Amino acid sequence: MLRDWIQDHPRPLEWAYRSTEQLFQFLAPLFARLGYDRVARVILPLEKVSKELVFDCRMCGQCILRLTGMTCPMTCPKLLRNGPCGGVRPEGYCEVFPEKRCIWVQAYERSQKMPIYGPEIRLVQPPVNWSRKGTSAWINMITGADRPPAQQHGSRG
Ligand code: SF4
Repeated sequence: MLRDWIQDHPRPLEWAYRSTEQLFQFLAPLFARLGYDRVARVILPLEKVSKELVFDCRMCGQCILRLTGMTCPMTCPKLLRNGPCGGVRPEGYCEVFPEKRCIWVQAYERSQKMPIYGPEIRLVQPPVNWSRKGTSAWINMITGADRPPAQQHGSRG
């Protein structure tokens, strides 16, 4: 599939992700003045269409694509955010859908091709906050709403 081929070449995706991240951080003061809700009404549909097309995004609102080899962890049938389950089949196939490769095997392989964020696949991720589902991950990144409550007032490292 075209989507798999694109994701198997993650370096341009990584570059595009970082550029978008930097652009949003640059625009953050403007977005704050305009109002995040108003900006999200414009950003959300664009984010949804583009991420669904390329990453099969499920709009969790807490995007960690850059930390998972530009492979969406929410496409794992077990919704795991911290690596594979114990049931990965020989040759790296999924326990639930034996005809598909394990999302986490793909994530690891792709992360090895990513010079910027690749090593960060080793970071432990917090559980998903389902109250953010359907919201803009880019806006949540700016406001800190994509982080666990205890970290929401700190600066992003
Ligand atoms: S991690 Fe969340 S926001 Fe990012 S692509 Fe997956 S479902 Fe979409």
